[in-house]
Amino acid sequence: MIHFVGAGPGAEDLITVRGAKLLEEADVVVYAGSLVNPAHLARTKADCAIYNSASMTLEQVMEVMVPAAQTGKQVVRLHTGDPSIYGAIREQMDILDAKGVPYEVCPGVSSFCGAAAALRAEYTLPNVSQTVILSRMAGRTPVPERESIRALAAHGSTMVLFLSSGMLGKLAEELIAGGYAPETPAAIVYKATWPEEKVFRTTIAGLEQMANENGIHKTALITVGGFLGNQYERSKLYDPSFAHGCREADP
Ligand code: SAH
Repeated sequence: MIHFVGAGPGAEDLITVRGAKLLEEADVVVYAGSLVNPAHLARTKADCAIYNSASMTLEQVMEVMVPAAQTGKQVVRLHTGDPSIYGAIREQMDILDAKGVPYEVCPGVSSFCGAAAALRAEYTLPNVSQTVILSRMAGRTPVPERESIRALAAHGSTMVLFLSSGMLGKLAEELIAGGYAPETPAAIVYKATWPEEKVFRTTIAGLEQMANENGIHKTALITVGGFLGNQYERSKLYDPSFAHGCREADP
């Protein structure tokens, strides 16, 4: 069996209980070394074979995992955050399906959740935004035109941008062209939940300068929107005058 496991955003104790147990039992671990905290590997058995996929191709990853799984070994493919977000797991699962190799997915805490925690923020504030857009700037991986930052920005919702911290000038331009005011609050969260985590609060117009001044060009998320400001309405759920299935309204 092969287990795709989300390692969480960084901190060693932000892997799930299930993910940690799978690592403890693994005979083979292939981990995404560019972003997975290597401290997670300390959970593995002394004789566990460990591979860093950062320097491997999809084919090489398969050459390690498939024979191991076919000879009854427990294999963990350790991805950063949650594997469903920019994890490149679909192409691996399709090959395993074709070869008849069984696998399961163990979710993880995505870095966008780690970033909200670092910011002490709520992405979905009443009367501000009830939608979170997770996206990225086009890089070597293209983004469909209908999902360009400019097009998505037209919603004025909360946005969390992955894989974009090296192109902040262009990102700000696109956000503003799409309809955000240049002074809209924005934040850069570097290495959320790692010991070296850093949070920088600025505006859309100030993103590039803030990143340059602090030497942030990778392993960061950009968050944008009114959720970083101070105007919002309190929730209906905990409003005394609001009745629901679990509580009567206060008369
Ligand atoms: N599957 C991962 C995302 C992988 S894409 C997840 O769910 O988080 C890699 C990008 O994620 C990085 O370029 C960066 O934008 C972001 N990222 C991953 N870990 C991060 C962290 N701890 N802090 C800030 N950004 C992070």
